[in-house]
Amino acid sequence: MFKITLSKLVKLFKTTPFKPALVVIDMQHDFVHGSLAVADAPAIIEPINKLLELPFVIKIGSKDFHPPDHISFASKHNKDLFSKITIYPPEDVKQEKGLEQVLWPDHCVQGTLGVEFVEGLNDEAFHAVVQKGLHPGIESYSAFRDPWHIETTELPGLLKDRGITHVYLVGVAGDYCVKSTAVDAVEFGFKTHVIRDAVRSVGKTGEEWKEMKKKKIQIVTSAQVTKRLSQVKPVRRSWRLFRFGPCGSQMQAIQ
Ligand SMILES: [Zn+2]
Repeated sequence: MFKITLSKLVKLFKTTPFKPALVVIDMQHDFVHGSLAVADAPAIIEPINKLLELPFVIKIGSKDFHPPDHISFASKHNKDLFSKITIYPPEDVKQEKGLEQVLWPDHCVQGTLGVEFVEGLNDEAFHAVVQKGLHPGIESYSAFRDPWHIETTELPGLLKDRGITHVYLVGVAGDYCVKSTAVDAVEFGFKTHVIRDAVRSVGKTGEEWKEMKKKKIQIVTSAQVTKRLSQVKPVRRSWRLFRFGPCGSQMQAIQ
């Protein structure tokens, strides 16, 4: 006769659901080889490709996707590269919501090579692509939303629709877009992990890792993630996903 002990029953009900997503942040030409290349970024292409082979429930790529006159470009303000200004959201006429902004070289401009995923990245593995930074007057490091929470991308919906519990982040730059996305992932309620060996940063201080740990973000390695995902059954791809364009328009069926 089939018997189940009380302790086994309790363990069964206590099992934490594990529905992991991989989000690859901004692995685009300009951030790897182009106008705003992050040091040593080519070294993480292959580790990310290996992670893309694992059975995550959903694999998403984010793209910085700027118009030519984006507010984060030094050229728009006639200021020095990497100098800092205060920017305000478009409707903030009283200038009460100022945020410090680093002025970058023009990068990831729509319609240019710089905006494309970097050569060698297996972007065919993405179930969906999320674009950010489309509004000329709003900066957005996070793949979830801008810092004033005016605009939200499709990312939270994509994750919630699939019942995702755990978000794993890789890509560039660790001290800007990866960190901001990780902080938002926690705020949206996901158990959030950053895979350290598949991330590169602009700065050299390493401060971002301390900041992320303080925000309950787990810092892990590819080896740890590979081990954990090896215990997950492969995902049945019975549903169709789409690449998303501006304003949530569905642009292209992926599979
Ligand atoms: Zn940008």
